[in-house]
Amino acid sequence: MTRITTGCPRCGRVELDIEDITLVLSPHEGMAWYFFDCQYCVNHVVKPAPTSVAAALSSVRVRSWTVPGEVIEREGCDDLPPLTVDDLLDALLWLRTGPAVDSDRTISIPSPGVAEPRPAHPNAA
Ligand SMILES: [Zn+2]
Repeated sequence: MTRITTGCPRCGRVELDIEDITLVLSPHEGMAWYFFDCQYCVNHVVKPAPTSVAAALSSVRVRSWTVPGEVIEREGCDDLPPLTVDDLLDALLWLRTGPAVDSDRTISIPSPGVAEPRPAHPNAA
């Protein structure tokens, strides 16, 4: 059985089973790290995994997670104000009419649950 030797900040050198370690790969950020729960102090330890460490852990087939790209796409959204009801109504109007909304134009928005009128003769040409 393969054992992995690493360090715990509280206990120092510790030996772990492969099942004790999880490798996290974030290819979009070019980063990797691994974590484990120390079996001696029960501390949750997170350590960086440079390329050589990530390759070594992958070669012994530790559990591996890959961070999806969508996580990174959200960076910078905290600077924007939250959406308001007016923003949603503007977006709905934009979707129905296009970017230039004519203020004199009446827009019919069907209510949920209200059936659309059916043609009198649906098969007629
Ligand atoms: Zn420990």
